[in-house]
Amino acid sequence: MSGLTPIVRFGDDAATRSLRHSVREWLEEWLPDEFRATAANPDYLPRDAHERAVEFCRRLHEQGWFVPQWPAEYGGGGRGVVEQVVIREELAYAGAPLVNTNGVNMLAPVLFRYGTPEQKEEHLPLIARSERMWAQGYSEPEAGSDLASLKMTARRDGDHYVLQGQKTWTSNGVLADWIFVLARTSPVGKSRREGISFFLVDLETPGITRRPIRSMTGYATFAEEFFDEVRVPATHLVGAEGDGWRVAKSLLDAERSNVTRAAQAQRFLDELVEWCRARRGRPNDPLADPMNRAALARAAEKTEVGRALSYRVAQNQAQGTLDAALPSLSKLYHAEFTAELRALGAQILGPAGQLMPDDPDALLHGHFSDGLLLSLLHRIGGGTSEIQRDVIATAALALPR
Ligand SMILES: Cc1cc2nc3c(=O)[nH]c(=O)nc-3n(C[C@H](O)[C@H](O)[C@H](O)COP(=O)(O)OP(=O)(O)OC[C@H]3O[C@@H](n4cnc5c(N)ncnc54)[C@H](O)[C@@H]3O)c2cc1C
Repeated sequence: MSGLTPIVRFGDDAATRSLRHSVREWLEEWLPDEFRATAANPDYLPRDAHERAVEFCRRLHEQGWFVPQWPAEYGGGGRGVVEQVVIREELAYAGAPLVNTNGVNMLAPVLFRYGTPEQKEEHLPLIARSERMWAQGYSEPEAGSDLASLKMTARRDGDHYVLQGQKTWTSNGVLADWIFVLARTSPVGKSRREGISFFLVDLETPGITRRPIRSMTGYATFAEEFFDEVRVPATHLVGAEGDGWRVAKSLLDAERSNVTRAAQAQRFLDELVEWCRARRGRPNDPLADPMNRAALARAAEKTEVGRALSYRVAQNQAQGTLDAALPSLSKLYHAEFTAELRALGAQILGPAGQLMPDDPDALLHGHFSDGLLLSLLHRIGGGTSEIQRDVIATAALALPR
């Protein structure tokens, strides 16, 4: 693939360039072709492919690059944020299937910040070794954007809490071993955000029923979970009782640097450009249409901006000075641009570009067919684009409500 040489690169010094080179060389040897070609979203892999992805991640961990930024005592590589970003970019561009995003990207930063020593000791090494898969249990049938209206309750009973209620839209819920949930431990007080607590729950606990949900892509990796008198040890509470909103909020921030999505945008743009170039001068040459050329140039410009935004979030996180609105800006930008780029690809590739990946005539491994459907989900999952705009309007622009 040719592709653009990015204008902005994180840590463009000799040591970082050498790290990039080492990661690429290692991937040449160890990344299975099925993942290199398909660059599949690890949250939407069928079970057998998931198991091969886990195998790959364990090998990556032995190399020190699965959780490069974690301290060594929890199985990490003890590296800085620049190295972490560089490793993540190279992995995402190559198509490496990084499993357990809920565990690695969402729960682990929360445990580092709020977990007890016992919680860290138990859970972090298992996440590092891809031995415990996690799901995120926030949304409920009547609580999505307005998360504080959640109805799941947790009643203290001796050294346990008893959980009652339902969670839904749980990514990876079919494969996950454990789930972190928000539940109400006391009635709504002055603020609806008070009285919510954050729990770690083994999905094998009696009283939990899981049901798969099939999404419009045809994949059934989503699930909904019903909790009926589920007894959870009190030691599985993270942070103080009633302080779950603060814990949960830090988790949502952790989800929003989107460096991986920036690298994927570069990869899919490069694939699309390469495909167009290979058809130069042939019938239905896409580059004969000036609108396509302009749209590809605009996509290159937006890819560059997306990467810069992600770097900025990562840099902020490294310095511990995350602006209130910046993660929302990054989430919004990447969700919208991912959808825009996939739609552009689907339009340029024509009808055959809309065949799903399992069709023998699918183009570019279905990156612009199932990719287009998946990209629409990004505008909703992790907080909708409207909600991100609301955060930017209030937190960054200080617009009165
Ligand atoms: C791909 C995907 C993965 C997901 N994974 C998980 C997961 O792992 N765990 C989990 O807990 N949840 C998950 N979700 C659920 C997701 O967090 C919710 O769908 C999302 O927060 C929106 O909530 P809702 O579906 O209840 O829609 P609603 O909140 O009912 O929103 C419906 C529409 O109204 C708009 N809207 C709502 N409030 C406002 C407002 N104040 N201002 C302007 N517009 C507004 C929304 O933007 C949306 O367009 C996932 C969803 C998707 C699509």
